[in-house]
Amino acid sequence: MKNIGFIGIGTMGLPMASNIINKGYSLSFYDPFVNSDSVNALKNLGGIEKTSLSELSQNVEIIITMLPNGDNVKEVCFGKNGLIYQDNKNFVLIDMSTINPNDSIFINEELNKNNIIMFDAPVARLVQNAIDGTLLIMVGGNKDEFKNIKNLLETMGSDIVYCGENGSGSKMKIINNYMSIALNILTAETLNLADKSGIDKKMAIELMLTTAAGKGHMNLTYPAKVFKDDVSPGFKNNLALKDLRLAIQFASEQNLDLNMGKAAEKIYDDASKKQYGDLDWTSMFNFIKNK
Ligand code: NAD
Repeated sequence: MKNIGFIGIGTMGLPMASNIINKGYSLSFYDPFVNSDSVNALKNLGGIEKTSLSELSQNVEIIITMLPNGDNVKEVCFGKNGLIYQDNKNFVLIDMSTINPNDSIFINEELNKNNIIMFDAPVARLVQNAIDGTLLIMVGGNKDEFKNIKNLLETMGSDIVYCGENGSGSKMKIINNYMSIALNILTAETLNLADKSGIDKKMAIELMLTTAAGKGHMNLTYPAKVFKDDVSPGFKNNLALKDLRLAIQFASEQNLDLNMGKAAEKIYDDASKKQYGDLDWTSMFNFIKNK
């Protein structure tokens, strides 16, 4: 079993490091800012506390960073007494923090200059998944080397997806989060519209789980139409725009402002003025692409 160094034992890092230890790995950790409860919890499991990056980097084959942002990762790697200045550079770095993909690419290039292999491997899902070892982990880096870290990642996650070259894990994480975070507001607006107009929310949810609203366009409409290069009208954009305006007007009568709806209305309106009005609504994928 490889010796693991873990940097950043916060909300996510602590349960992730705990799972690595519980699966039989030897783990050293470094986090000078975390509270003593977390330090003691990991020590009780068998984790070895280190008080500097120099100490942590000795005798480890893999170092994992789980830090708040890209500047933290750069600081740990390249700051004063950072990892590249230590004697042992014979380790693989797996950065599991959520950071800008350009930072992931930059950090990888700089580490490569010191012969250090790096992966970006940010995680999705919740703290409970970190505790249960059921995170989704999105990995960017060399595909051959990926085989050597997969077992370790499986101690923390139930779904380990290789996404492509360095930076691809961070890109995929941001792409996924964009959709789920924006959909959260759309979902909140939609269910408030149901509530305010006297529609039973439970019934509305059950009903919408059978339509594109709840099943999602990736599941339902795009594969059948635009992904097959077919934008002949099934449901026309002009009709979608009419229905969207009905919803916005109806909501305003209930004193509810549909901000996501208004943003979408502007885009449908632009598309309609550029000969998309009579095309299938999935053609909006092409409109956005060609804008
Ligand atoms: P956190 O703030 O709870 O933990 C970060 C830890 O890093 C802290 O304990 C802090 O002391 C430590 N740290 C900061 N700078 C350090 C340094 N220079 N050296 C050593 N340790 C240092 O954050 P978190 O919630 O665990 O999130 C970590 C990353 O995972 C973030 O990028 C976050 O966006 C991402 N993420 C979080 C969640 C979540 O639900 N919390 C879910 C998915 C992804």
